[in-house]
Amino acid sequence: MSNELEANSGAEEEPLIDLTSDLYMMGQAMRQAQSAYLAEEVPIGCVIVHEGRIIARSHNQVETLSDATAHAEMLALTQAQAAMEDWRLTECDLYVTKEPCPMCAGAIVHCRIRRVIFGCGDDRGGACGGFINLVQQPTLNHHSEVTPGVLGEESKLLIQTFFAEAREKKKGKKARDVDSPYLN
Ligand SMILES: [Zn+2]
Repeated sequence: MSNELEANSGAEEEPLIDLTSDLYMMGQAMRQAQSAYLAEEVPIGCVIVHEGRIIARSHNQVETLSDATAHAEMLALTQAQAAMEDWRLTECDLYVTKEPCPMCAGAIVHCRIRRVIFGCGDDRGGACGGFINLVQQPTLNHHSEVTPGVLGEESKLLIQTFFAEAREKKKGKKARDVDSPYLN
């Protein structure tokens, strides 16, 4: 999908793709997810956008960094705060290929992200309306707008492929290692 977006983005006249659109930005997050996939990480990618410009790009690096908190969103939030020289990301929108977990949703609220746009939902662990909704929790002092389902099928397919391959590789040994809180 991202290759198609790139191919089309070259057209100067009447571009078919709006380079500030949710679809384009999620395409960029999907490229990050594909990088995670190639690094044998659970393939989830994230970008953060400020005034139409991408200020952070990251993918899940839990295995690479041996850090259970190294989710794509957490790494992207750190990058974005550095880029803005401010922890308040009130004018920033976060695109992630899967619905954020409770840890990331908590961080999103702390950083005051304006909008969260995600790919596939997660009924079991999602914290933007899937299993709970922490980014629109009435008792908290910040709420983010949520747009679900942008490139959701593509994202879900990549994650399912990753887990199917991981199970195949580890067949018969350490089966529990491929269990994950992520949808599978
Ligand atoms: Zn997370």
